[in-house]
Parts: sequence; structure tokens; C-alpha cells
Amino acid sequence: MSYLNFIGGEWIPALSGDTFENRNPADRSDLIGLFPDGGAADVAAAVDTVSAAWPDWAARGPEARADVLYKAADIISERIGPIAAELTREEGKTLTEARNETGRIAANFRFYAGEALRLRGETYPMPEGQVALSLREPVGVVAVITPWNFPLSMAARKIAPALAAGNGVIFKPSEMTPLMGQRLVEVLLDAGLPQGLLALIQGRGPGVGKAITATPGIDALTFTGSYAVGAQIAKALTTDTRCQLEMGGKNATIVLDDADLDRAAAIIRRGAFGLTGQACTGTSRVLVARRHYAALVDRLTAAAEGIAIGAGTREGIDMGPLATGAQLEKVKAYLGIAAQEGGRITTGGVPDASDAPGDGFFVRPTVVSDLPADSRLLRDEIFAPVVAVRAVEDVDEAIAIADDTEYGLAVSVVSNDLAAVLRLAGKTRHGVVKVNSPTTGVALNAPFGGFKHSSNQSAKEQGGANVMDFYSRIKSVYLGG
Ligand code: NAD
Repeated sequence: MSYLNFIGGEWIPALSGDTFENRNPADRSDLIGLFPDGGAADVAAAVDTVSAAWPDWAARGPEARADVLYKAADIISERIGPIAAELTREEGKTLTEARNETGRIAANFRFYAGEALRLRGETYPMPEGQVALSLREPVGVVAVITPWNFPLSMAARKIAPALAAGNGVIFKPSEMTPLMGQRLVEVLLDAGLPQGLLALIQGRGPGVGKAITATPGIDALTFTGSYAVGAQIAKALTTDTRCQLEMGGKNATIVLDDADLDRAAAIIRRGAFGLTGQACTGTSRVLVARRHYAALVDRLTAAAEGIAIGAGTREGIDMGPLATGAQLEKVKAYLGIAAQEGGRITTGGVPDASDAPGDGFFVRPTVVSDLPADSRLLRDEIFAPVVAVRAVEDVDEAIAIADDTEYGLAVSVVSNDLAAVLRLAGKTRHGVVKVNSPTTGVALNAPFGGFKHSSNQSAKEQGGANVMDFYSRIKSVYLGG
């Protein structure tokens, strides 16, 4: 099956004619499709058409814009089954995980439809009865660049608020999950989105992604992906383009002295091995009170061994493959580093071809203990179901180690010691602190963003009260005087 870009209200090939193929990560013989490999010319065409389309969309007003998003929510709710099946085939997550993600898109669209209706400005008293107003306007052309791990929800979380605020959108999905980009755009078009307002450009990061950062006329760019790429984007953009960067994490679950170990193991199992460890908030470190260290390593090892791996479409499978071959190579490299550092792999690793549940990028849920304090497994983002466990003396040491990484996205703590929990929440340099729950899983209506290499400042406007600030600009108008 061949797919096309969508620019100026038409489905068209990349202007260069180039294509790339995408395959099922659980079965490399399964070709999902051929997709256009866009470039600078496609981006320039999209900027022209989206720039021309958004003022009309903005002029329709919030209710008309909200109506389209509500309709899109209804349509995706009707398509959860088929889209979730394709998501599993394209990205590898289990069908249950895929259904959860697809279902969340409807919630996303409804939430941002509500935000369209809540857009507002303020009034400011001036001397002698005069008044100043703040008017909220769309930014204009918003570029959306997304990763493969949540190909629907990351994209919806950006496209929906951009549209709600009256902007036009140029959407570049990950080249690992182009079919999900296609499906999301189809839903929005079926919901009645004006034809030229949303452009879909498929293609690779160094091609179309880079071209987006170099093409004039893009007013805002919102990106979720790795720090390495986020840093390149920040460097490439001119100061005229506002930029939201949501990047990696090296998230820890801290298990304090008073914790119930069965509860802790269940929380870590979900955070570390759910979604094959490929969530930006996934648990990749466990920092546990020394007296529980050996017992928790045993419990996590047993929990990991109880996880059935295989193609996400199969019944009874708890964990699908990694999404890409590059991810698999990265895991192999880090398991080599763990061995060199003297770490003990208590369970897991990469199965041999004879032992693997198919011709895909399979890895077993992996637990690594006995690592030195300066281990790279305790600092680098691996983005896989590999969890490093380390003993700590107290909450202060746990905070120090948790924060001893370039990232600062999510940390969770298992404890009922309120003083220790509050101390951790107040001190840690992580943007999300979860208590007695996994590092993964965040709510739409709460702010989301990290510290250090995890996010730039504008990323703090994802979710919560200021969610529409990135997608709109404020103009001050003085009446009289
Ligand atoms: P990635 O950085 O490799 O790619 C992300 C997107 O950027 C893709 O669409 C890619 O094509 C594009 N891209 C690549 N090079 C580019 C360039 N030079 N200019 C512009 N665009 C370019 O990330 P990935 O491998 O798709 O996703 C995994 C990463 O995403 C992990 O680091 C993970 O932590 C992060 N992530 C973060 C969050 C969060 O909310 N903090 C959520 C999900 C994923």
C-alpha cells in the first residue's frame, strides 16, 4: 500500500518522488506501506497553503473550532478497534496498550475543544476611566514534530490545542510511525477541518524535519523527541519562531524504608516494563532503602520473569517488541556496558534468534543490580525495558542520585512517610513527582514538563491552566488616552 502527503487540501506524493518503507517491528517480513519521503520543497508548499488557510479558521470563532474537535473525538471513538490494531502492527505495543492510547485521543480532542471555548483575555484599569485589554490571537503556522512511542497521543496533544486556538498546522509524524500520522489526519478531515489548514508531510528527521527548522514562515514549532534532536532544533530556529521542546527522561522510582515491597514491585513493574519501557516517563532506575535491596531485586526479577513477550496482536502477551532496530542495538550496547561495569543482570537480555518469539526487535524485561555509583545505566536514557536497581541509605541520598543525571522528567516514591515524601517533592529537580504510583501516566489537565534536558521552558505549558499560552499570542490594546 502506498500513502501520500496532504498539502493544500490534496493527497500528493513528495515533490521529489522519493519514498520510504515501514515494517512491523514484531515481524520484519510484514511491510506496512510505502510513504512519501518529504523535503524542503514540500515544507515550503505547506507553509504557503497553511498560511493562507489559518486566518479564515481563526475568524470562524471558538465554537465552530470546538465543534470540529468534538466531532473528531466521536469519529476516533468509533474507530478505536481498527486504529488500535494498526498501531500495534506499526509500533509494536500490545493491543491493550494501543486501545488505551487510541481512546485517549478522543479525550484529548474533547479537552482541547473545551479549551477553545475558554480562550480569553483580560482588562487592565488605566487612569481616568480608560482601559487596556489583552487580546488573545492565534500564533499562525504551527509545526508539529512527534516521536514514534505515542504516535497518536503526542500528535493529538499538540495538533488539537493548535487548532483550538485558531492556528494552521504542519504535521510531521515520526518516520517510524507514518501510518498513525495518516490515520489522525483522516479523522480530522472527516470531522470537517478545512482542507488547506492541516498539512501532513511524511519523511525522515534529517530531511523533512530539518527542512521545517530552516523554512521561513513557521511561527511556532512544538517537538517531542530526544534531547539530541531537540538541541539541534533549538539551534536551527531563528528567534522569530517560538519553540516547545519536550525531550527525554531518566526516571527513578524511590522505595523508602517503610514501603511495602509487593506494592513497590507492582508499581515498578508497570512503570519499567509497560509499553516495552518506551515511555518518556518510563522507570529506568530504582533507588531502594538498603535493607530492602536484596528482597526487592528478587521481587522485580520474579515480576519480570512473569511477563510474556511476543507480538502485541497475540492473546496473553504482556509486552511487545521494541519499536526499532536502533533501539535493539542500544539495549545490546547498554547490556555490554553493564557487564563491563560489573553489574549483575538478574534476568532479561536479548533472546537468541532461536529463542525469540518472532522475527522482530524483542528484548526480555531486564533487571540489573550491583552497579557502581557512576554507572552509565544509572544516568543515560536507554528507553527500553531495562531497570537498574541501586541501594540508598536514606531519602537525601535517593534525591541526590535521582537528580544526578542530565534529565529531570519524572520521579516516583513508594512510601507513606509524609515528611519524607514532601522533602523529596520539594527538593528534586524533576518536573513530575508521583507518590505510590508509577513514574508513567500523567493527566491531561495537570501541567506536564521536566527540568534540565527534559524540557525547555515552553514545554511547561503542556497541560494545566496555561496550556493554550504556547498556541496563542497576547496583544495589548489601550482604549483612549
Ligand atoms: P527523535 O528525537 O529521534 O525523533 C523525534 C522526531 O524528530 C521524529 O519525527 C524525527 O523524524 C524528528 N527529527 C529527527 N531529526 C530531526 C532534525 N534534525 N530536525 C527536526 N526534526 C528531526 O526521537 P524518537 O526516537 O522518535 O523518540 C524517542 C525520544 O522521545 C526519547 O528520547 C523519549 O524520551 C522522547 N519522548 C519524550 C516525551 C516527553 O513528553 N518528554 C514523550 C515521548 C518521547
